[in-house]
Amino acid sequence: MEIESMVANSALIKAREGGGSKGRSWKWKEMLRFPQISQCRQLAMNIERDYYSLCVKQPIGKKLFQLFCRSQTDLTTFPLTISSVFPQSIQCVFTVQKHEQSCIQSLEIDPCGDVFYDCREDLHKYLSGDPFMQYQESMFFDRFLQWKMLERSPITKQTFRQYRLLGKGGFGEVWACQVRATGMMYACKKLEKTHVKKRRGEAMALNEKQILEGLDSRFVVNLAYAYETKHALCMVLTMMSGGDLRFHIYNIGVPGLDKDRVRFYAAEVCCGIIHLHQKSIVYRDLKPENILLDDNGHIRISDLGLAVRLSEGSLVRGRVGTLGYMAPEVISNKHYGMSVDWWGLGCLIYEMIAGHPPFKSRGEHARTSEMERRIQTEQEAYSDKFSKEATDLCSLLLTKDPNQRLGSFSGGTEVQSHPFFHKINFRMLEAGLIEPPFKPDPRQVYCSDVQDIEEFSSVKGVTLDHIDNNFYSQFNTGSVPINWQNEVIETGCFRELNVFGPEGSRSPDLDR
Ligand code: ADP
Ligand code: MG
Ligand code: MG
Repeated sequence: MEIESMVANSALIKAREGGGSKGRSWKWKEMLRFPQISQCRQLAMNIERDYYSLCVKQPIGKKLFQLFCRSQTDLTTFPLTISSVFPQSIQCVFTVQKHEQSCIQSLEIDPCGDVFYDCREDLHKYLSGDPFMQYQESMFFDRFLQWKMLERSPITKQTFRQYRLLGKGGFGEVWACQVRATGMMYACKKLEKTHVKKRRGEAMALNEKQILEGLDSRFVVNLAYAYETKHALCMVLTMMSGGDLRFHIYNIGVPGLDKDRVRFYAAEVCCGIIHLHQKSIVYRDLKPENILLDDNGHIRISDLGLAVRLSEGSLVRGRVGTLGYMAPEVISNKHYGMSVDWWGLGCLIYEMIAGHPPFKSRGEHARTSEMERRIQTEQEAYSDKFSKEATDLCSLLLTKDPNQRLGSFSGGTEVQSHPFFHKINFRMLEAGLIEPPFKPDPRQVYCSDVQDIEEFSSVKGVTLDHIDNNFYSQFNTGSVPINWQNEVIETGCFRELNVFGPEGSRSPDLDR
């Protein structure tokens, strides 16, 4: 490895280790200084007074509403407020008692179901009434507005520190970066403006950004910020330090992965696909390169450039994707829907086990027409690396006719209940409670050396004008609220800064 690469890697490793408080700028408190309440008036007038969004969905909103509830003595004695606000309180017994019958019933019907649904609904119904009104008059809500103002600060290049290059995409490079104010690490995907314009990628770039900001899944990369610089549009994404599955399948020992890892990654990808499909999004680009590992060894689906949202009941057309992974109905240019992603999952599982994709042998460079023929007409072969269950699952997912394919009847649940996954508890998996079978080494950088990633060429003869500026301003929306708030909480900045002055002096103890 060359010296340049070693220096870049060690800077990144050091930043990752220091991630959180040690990675903050020495000026971090200044960067996150609350504005005066008087400066929040405009916001107070315009913000949508929706209980669910303000007190449940937004992480900082939820914390401040909890603090408010704790400060109200009448609330602490109301039996219904207790179970989620004060989990350890004796009052929680009352809540359960009121709903005892319904809890018992739902336990009997489905012990894995959401037994406390009614309790929770009642609680929210109560809290969204008077308590929510009073909250909006309290200092806790003022504080919420102050945090919201910080959340809306303009995002520029200066918001981040940049580390090494991680990879290269179609429109630009992906760099490791760190938010100066909080120390949080991210990956910044840059789209060069001139490249986007030359290849008419505007709609595609905006589509990727808009789909990402509407998602909230532990199995899909999160978008934390979207901003622009003079030369690029930038999407700041969950940092995935463990490398992509392609790297793990091919660059570490014998091609392929052991069966525990295959099952685990397949199960997590399956959950990610289900999440996208629930939002009517077809992903269309499933392949090992697009599945990334985080530092703990969980995967997320990334690169949503080809994803598309279908309007209800409709299908799309378009020969997009990567040849070796395209479903037969995509190749033959028919209309298609979610089925193409189940085909993609079949290809992925096959490749993780075999160490090569289903219709291409190792190191082979088949011609396009030949690949198309194989995908449409040939039966894939199963070596003895495939267990009975794996063979069965792959061949059901790689069914040529999309209407007969596993996943096309009742969606992802029928894939999850295949015997291949019988060891996986999907509810635990979805809650992030299953330990990954492989944890990436925190001292290793799982991507190609910096100088092996081809340099991104510049485009000449493209001039940017006011029409482009209009598109840039649609893209340049700054922080994505839920992810920004999570960042501030996870890095400890919220805890350290959310103290109240002498008038409202109660020491915030938020971590119970
Ligand atoms: P494109 O849409 O242009 O193909 P990608 O989103 O696939 O771009 O990103 C290109 C490369 O950058 C990926 O193959 C991967 O190596 C790296 N990369 C992308 N996103 C991340 C991330 N969130 N964390 C770490 N590396 C990433
Ligand atoms: Mg890609
Ligand atoms: Mg892409």
